[in-house]
Amino acid sequence: MQILNSELAQKHSQQALHNCHQLAQISEMTNGILRQYLTDKHKACHQQVANWMVDAGLTVWQDQVGNQWGRLASQHQNAPRLILGSHLDTVPNAGAYDGILGVMLGLELAKLAQSQQLDLPFHLDIVGFADEEGTRFATTLIGSKALAGQFSPQWLSIKDANGISMEEALQTFGLNPNEVHNAALNPAEIIQYWEIHIEQGPVLEAQHHSLGVVSAIAGAKRAIISYQGQTGHAGTTPMNLRRDALAACAELSLAIEQIALACTNQEVATVGAIKAKPGATNVIAGLSEMTLDARAQQDSDLTALLNKIETAAQTIANKRQLTLDWQWTHQAKAVQCAPQVQQLFSAACEINQLAAPVLPSGAGHDAMAIAEICPVGMLFIRSPKGISHHPDEAVIESDVTDAIKVMYSALSYYQN
Ligand SMILES: [Zn+2]
Repeated sequence: MQILNSELAQKHSQQALHNCHQLAQISEMTNGILRQYLTDKHKACHQQVANWMVDAGLTVWQDQVGNQWGRLASQHQNAPRLILGSHLDTVPNAGAYDGILGVMLGLELAKLAQSQQLDLPFHLDIVGFADEEGTRFATTLIGSKALAGQFSPQWLSIKDANGISMEEALQTFGLNPNEVHNAALNPAEIIQYWEIHIEQGPVLEAQHHSLGVVSAIAGAKRAIISYQGQTGHAGTTPMNLRRDALAACAELSLAIEQIALACTNQEVATVGAIKAKPGATNVIAGLSEMTLDARAQQDSDLTALLNKIETAAQTIANKRQLTLDWQWTHQAKAVQCAPQVQQLFSAACEINQLAAPVLPSGAGHDAMAIAEICPVGMLFIRSPKGISHHPDEAVIESDVTDAIKVMYSALSYYQN
């Protein structure tokens, strides 16, 4: 494994950050960043990235779902592919780095592999995914799912807020809706997928580390839990004769917090909203609803967590003589980062004298979709104050330099 000198790494991290700031100017919003799938700004952004890729000497193409690619070709015939990337789309009023920095660092690493004459046994393919956030068509990971052969033809009829279907938007963009399935990759050609991403959380900052190696992308389940009791007069109904649905939600909310706190494998559970009906000051709530979002890095941990929450919810319903109802609204399986890639990234951190903890990702990423077809690995860069999906999203330049050094060392491991 090679170590890149810090000055050169810093030069490339500055370039990657400069490029992020350039792309932040390409926005559908006037006072903030927004780039949605298949919009004019999406096209302009990918054109800019393609130009930079061409300048870097990469072979450039766009696939059938609109992902932007650049290849540093291997000298070796019939070489497989190592894919390095992230996404170029954003949420409304976004920061400049979520996704984008991962693509820009991929480009800088390809430049370094070239200038340092790394003799790699694979094509180094840099990808900028067209849609990860799902802000336009209410379905996420469109770009990466298409690569994994999981683009659903039913998505073509989903309409955006202006009534434009994905099918029409693909055509306007210059893509053929009947060809999207051809974006699927042949798993036999791919050896690994690597993604560098900002952490979007506070863990690395709290532990004073610039980088972290991702162990798994958490599985998640979401539900709406409701209690039905009896609406009553706040003045005339004695406390012992009440069937108060809102009090049950409050009790369950605290129970969920205690259950998740007692878990030992970084499980999390959140009640983000509670509604009470009829919702008046002098009326006991007869109906209440609460949201639940639970996540864990192993599916078995998530099941165990949810079993405990379901038991607590039922106990509260029995005690308070309420009817309990669960409505599941979302489910995503946990995705493990490949042990060999985790080990490689950890070894690359070590050789660069960086202590990088291993941590799960609570948020979803393109790597989740790509894990269906090849081993994946993710490197997190510290997020100051844990802020993301917000204009105050930031990175520290020296952390980005660390990321370049680590990923360069990891790439050089494969050098012939
Ligand atoms: Zn992202």
